[in-house]
Amino acid sequence: MKAYDTVIGLEVHAQLLTRTKIFCGCSTRSGLPPNTNTCPVCTGMPGVLPVLNRKVVDFGIMLGLATGCRIAPRCIFARKNYFYPDLPKGYQITQYEHPLCEGGTIRIETGQGVKRIGITRIHMEEDAGKTIHDEKAPYSYVDYNRAGVPLLEIVSEPEITSTDEAVAYLRELRQILMYLGICDGNMEEGSLRCDANVSVKPAGSSRYGTRTELKNMNSFRNVQKALEYEIERHIGIRESGHEVVQETLLWDPSRGVTVSMRSKEESHDYRYFPEPDLVPVEIGEAWIDGLRSGLPELPFARRKRFSGQYGLPAYDAGVLTQTKALADYYEEGVRLLDRPKEISNWIMTEVMRILNEKGIPITGLNVSPAMLTGLIALIGGGSISGSMAKDVFAEMAATGDSAESIVERRGIGQISDETELLSLAREIIDAHPDEARRYRSGKAGLLGFFVGKLMKATRGEANPKLASKIMKELLEG
Ligand code: ADP
Ligand code: MG
Ligand code: ZN
Repeated sequence: MKAYDTVIGLEVHAQLLTRTKIFCGCSTRSGLPPNTNTCPVCTGMPGVLPVLNRKVVDFGIMLGLATGCRIAPRCIFARKNYFYPDLPKGYQITQYEHPLCEGGTIRIETGQGVKRIGITRIHMEEDAGKTIHDEKAPYSYVDYNRAGVPLLEIVSEPEITSTDEAVAYLRELRQILMYLGICDGNMEEGSLRCDANVSVKPAGSSRYGTRTELKNMNSFRNVQKALEYEIERHIGIRESGHEVVQETLLWDPSRGVTVSMRSKEESHDYRYFPEPDLVPVEIGEAWIDGLRSGLPELPFARRKRFSGQYGLPAYDAGVLTQTKALADYYEEGVRLLDRPKEISNWIMTEVMRILNEKGIPITGLNVSPAMLTGLIALIGGGSISGSMAKDVFAEMAATGDSAESIVERRGIGQISDETELLSLAREIIDAHPDEARRYRSGKAGLLGFFVGKLMKATRGEANPKLASKIMKELLEG
């Protein structure tokens, strides 16, 4: 029996793939020289007015629909006031009392089946700039290129009860964002950022413990490790008779510890008030319906359909639907050749190996679904062996040539010529008289030994069925 229950709630920031910023026409591109991608609006000059980018509302509604949220009829922004050099206006434009979306769910797979985690709210806001600290200089720099880049903040209910569930929730949310094409999901580069609130309470108790908030975890692995560390820290504090202090901590990945950053501020510290520079936007049914009809099939549904329609194990369905492009690739393959499990096996092994080696997405692969199914058809037709096919596949990926042309160029059809195999088989039996005697006196398992020798002598090019038949006949005849 565990002595404590864990309670986790996640606040995720997703940077949106709009072309321009949320309230001005500056580009959202990253990697430009500092402060070259700014204008009077996103640097907070006096006398300028923000204009809302409609695409940001579109993307927010799309995520709200994908997670079953209610969409607000009017969208209203608020000012969150605080002072920090990366915030040129002295306030962030965000949403407070009237978030764009509320009351949704994300379904995750757990050891005990599907679990629904509540989404409290999804709101739109602008990103801040970046401060850059140079240890050699007695001052810091600030780069406003990122100021005004649109974000969605997705807040979960405190319904996550383990670190595994937290990672599963985050993976699922990331996959939904990427299927929708509204965020690139890159955690290392900060386009998907996760803050985690965590507390522990005596097992079975209905009263929540004091929570701390963790920041700076830029990978799934770090989210997992930071939460595990923090849960142990909370339990340690309670066991020693002390109380957890509500505060914000930074995860230090190099030391593997959480470090106190600041005491937790309350929302009244921010003096939120409605943003007077932006008019409320009415979101009519037509706007919502238009976006709903354009939604793609979402990861959860697609996984379920893959298992059902193609008879795939849940594991295969999960791997094949990791990205929309990979799932599309698979389905195009199955449409061309009705061998769902074989195509799945090829994608999960050889195709994924090449993608990982080259660090490319499926869209960057030289081998089209038609070319892959062409190769699988050659194996089925008996013209090349399975092991040979792997070499052919590697060459296809390297050159972009079809399986047929590679097989022809390399002259690697299977040896199905009986006389050639017969003479090789005789030589092998003559070279292993002991094994041949033992086989004939009843050690039937040695057939594999002889067939293996024959396959090796032909460098794998013998037709395996024929090789086995010939060996058996010679040994027994
Ligand atoms: P804040 O305004 O400080 O961000 P919220 O009430 O918006 O606080 O909650 C932020 C996150 O903290 C939510 O994801 C919520 O689920 C989570 N949370 C709230 N209470 C707890 C708790 N006792 N333990 C763990 N997480 C919690
Ligand atoms: Mg918050
Ligand atoms: Zn700008």
